[in-house]
Amino acid sequence: MKIGFIGLGNMGGPMAANLVKGGHQVAGFDLTAPMPEGVTKAATAAEAATDADVVLTMLPNGAILRAVAAEVIPAMRKGAILCDCSTVDVDSARAVAELADAAGLGALDAPVSGGIGGASAGTLTFMVGGTDEAFARVLPLFDIMGQKAVHCGTAGAGQAAKICNNMILGVTMIATCEAFALADKLGLDRQKMYDVVSTSSGYSWSLNAYCPAPGVGPKSPADNEYRPGFASELMLKDLRLSQQAAESADADTPMGQLATALYTSFVEAEGGKGRDFSAMLPRFEKRHRN
Ligand code: NAD
Repeated sequence: MKIGFIGLGNMGGPMAANLVKGGHQVAGFDLTAPMPEGVTKAATAAEAATDADVVLTMLPNGAILRAVAAEVIPAMRKGAILCDCSTVDVDSARAVAELADAAGLGALDAPVSGGIGGASAGTLTFMVGGTDEAFARVLPLFDIMGQKAVHCGTAGAGQAAKICNNMILGVTMIATCEAFALADKLGLDRQKMYDVVSTSSGYSWSLNAYCPAPGVGPKSPADNEYRPGFASELMLKDLRLSQQAAESADADTPMGQLATALYTSFVEAEGGKGRDFSAMLPRFEKRHRN
């Protein structure tokens, strides 16, 4: 396929490189990032999109996605598909899909989980919103860049799945960290705490697969001085998107709201920026009631 790839940063770069390795012809555009090997550099986003069967975007946020979409949609040929893999707000994903549809194009929102490691290894999970037809046409590309693609529903459903998942993740990580800090103060050994909870009803991915306590459970960023991993500021971005969506859908999400407030102070006032999101544990360790 002929592919246009816009946004070749930490995630987009290795994803585009994998598409080249998979035998596709990729034209790329980024404001600053270098082109990965085998990707032809385009002078503008519109140039990268012209003639492409599929245009992929991997950009920082919804406002930038909307601006890029407004530029590339008129340049794309009828029947081509615009597939955004960034994590953005549901409203932007739906607005871009409507614009694309009105121009006779297919559109998908296809955010990923798996991080930079998954992007390089080609093991991302894609959560996809859009039509069956568009999903079927882009599936061969998802198969190269990832190990799993779930078609979640119509436009916006991919972003909805992503932020609901990450809202659960933020909330359970905080709950796990505060419970470890409480266990410490109660004199409970962390290994015993892990042995019990990981096989009891308090278990979760945050505890069992990504334990925030160093030296306990499987290897995780806690064993590497909380270097990310999944940085706290990226968790905060996703939590904010979840609250923006909750606001717009009139959904009551008190735990998501509290998790957003805690990660906001962690990132903005407590040195959490650049640290893994599981560094909530040392934060709680230092604190007292009120
Ligand atoms: P990044 O900042 O490394 O890359 C974004 C790229 O977009 C940059 O290279 C930037 O120059 C480029 N860009 C910005 N505006 C542009 C424009 N108008 N035209 C062309 N290029 C433009 O970010 P990233 O880590 O690659 O993340 C990209 C997206 O993936 C984000 O939405 C993020 O939330 C999501 N995501 C990231 C991770 C992760 O672990 N990094 C995991 C899952 C999802």
